[in-house]
Amino acid sequence: MTTTEHIKALRSEPWREQLRQKMTNKERVAIPRVRMPELSPDFRSHSYEEVNLGLTAEQSMREAQRCLDCPNPTCMGGCPVEINIPTFIKNIERGDFTEAAKTLKETSALPAVCGRVCPQEKQCESQCIHLKMGKEAVAIGYLERFAADYERESGNISIPQTAAANGIKIAVVGSGPAGLSFAGDMAKLGYEVTVYEALHEIGGVLKYGIPEFRLPNRIVDVEIAILQKMGVQFVTNCIVGKTISYDDLHASGFKGIFIASGAGLPNFMNIPGENLIGVLSSNEYLTRVNLMAAASPNSDTPVLKGKKVAIIGGGNTAMDSVRTARRLGADKAIIVYRRSEEEMPARIEEIKHAKEEGIIFMTLHNPIKYIGDENGRVVQMLLQKMELGEPDASGRRRPVEISGATELIDIDMAIVSIGVSPNPLIPKTFHGLNVSKWGTIIVDPDSLKSDLPDIYAGGDIVRGGATVILAMGDGRKAAQAMHRQLKVSGLPLIPNS
Ligand code: FAD
Ligand code: SF4
Repeated sequence: MTTTEHIKALRSEPWREQLRQKMTNKERVAIPRVRMPELSPDFRSHSYEEVNLGLTAEQSMREAQRCLDCPNPTCMGGCPVEINIPTFIKNIERGDFTEAAKTLKETSALPAVCGRVCPQEKQCESQCIHLKMGKEAVAIGYLERFAADYERESGNISIPQTAAANGIKIAVVGSGPAGLSFAGDMAKLGYEVTVYEALHEIGGVLKYGIPEFRLPNRIVDVEIAILQKMGVQFVTNCIVGKTISYDDLHASGFKGIFIASGAGLPNFMNIPGENLIGVLSSNEYLTRVNLMAAASPNSDTPVLKGKKVAIIGGGNTAMDSVRTARRLGADKAIIVYRRSEEEMPARIEEIKHAKEEGIIFMTLHNPIKYIGDENGRVVQMLLQKMELGEPDASGRRRPVEISGATELIDIDMAIVSIGVSPNPLIPKTFHGLNVSKWGTIIVDPDSLKSDLPDIYAGGDIVRGGATVILAMGDGRKAAQAMHRQLKVSGLPLIPNS
């Protein structure tokens, strides 16, 4: 049965028809979109507890009634992992939350994660039919989170079915969302999957980047445990390209390799004073706080806790850093961004939450110099004032310097969050890979296959810094393509192995 036939068959189940008859579309559209309950800004700006509290069952069932169970669900076109959105939502409407979670897990290895951090407003929700009627989209992300949380909290977690073991060994490099999604799909198909991770924790940016107050690590751990129960093996503290080589993987009998090593190399501006004490990258700051417990008073590797902290950048990483600095005691936590708020790439919800928590926004400002004291510690920062010019290649209006307009501000810490570059080790050590001038691995866009016969790649190592759901979509796409190749050719991907 094709996916379309499967969706059609599910849609025509009698209980679905009964739901459709229970309420008219007009009544469904008239229901206002639910608001996410959250911790108060006063409390949460000093706490690491999760800000969004999740919907209740009643709120979820009411929100689910808003979905029109469209015959042609346009929302699904906006989901890179192709979740059967109306089916999971209608299961919530009829109160079968476990079945809703099962539907999510058919195509997504990380529903509780995506329900929290996926930019739904730019993906599935941006394609919801409600928008065409001048209404707010169905809160697909909130409902996804509800179903996944319900299943986890009920303790009755279903493990997706896996095909009989086919004895073919597959390696994955990197345990972020791309690697986990690929591993899940390959395990379902019966492959023997081993994921190699350089760090001591599994999860990539989900663990070391995104803070607890947005995505608690224990939520990620439960989704990883499901993959383990499906048979996926994880090897931590193993840097592929250093601890083990491409040749070692061949010698171990791996017939296909998926590279999902991400983009964890921080960019700097190369301006005077960037090497002063107190100027660091978001990557270092967040990794030390999230993964090395650096904020704890007993930490062996404590992190600097500034009182006047400037974060340079306007993306999710910048928002996570500034909100972390606030929680670690900054009286003044400032976002310094060279464009206006409209051009900020961060999720609207993160900007809203940051503002509520007392974060100061200095938009249309760009640092040009850090100034230190006699001990080499940063104490001030010189900012160039900017205005907006014509749109650039990204479609956003270009920031242009206002000649002679500068401002000096006092700071005791600066966190640079202006983007990341791909981790260079794999492109350097896997000879024969075609690599772009930005250091990303070049792959065939349909199959995600590289120039090496056994290597597929996806996620940030191919796209540069992108999103969780795009990385997961790549994992799924590569799994399908690698499976097709192994199945169709019936031959090992690696010549002579
Ligand atoms: P990663 O998550 O980076 O995982 C790569 C893994 O590979 C890492 O664990 C790394 O240690 C490992 N690795 C690297 N090299 C090797 C090697 N040689 N051997 C073994 N292992 C290796 N996206 C959203 O959609 N929503 C958000 O709210 C959001 N917030 C973000 C906040 C922050 C602070 C950051 C940094 C990013 C955020 N993103 C967000 C982006 C998103 O997290 C990434 O696009 C996504 O994690 C990319 O997934 P990936 O699997 O390609 O790589
Ligand atoms: Fe439901 Fe909106 Fe998807 Fe239609 S487009 S099925 S209303 S979520």
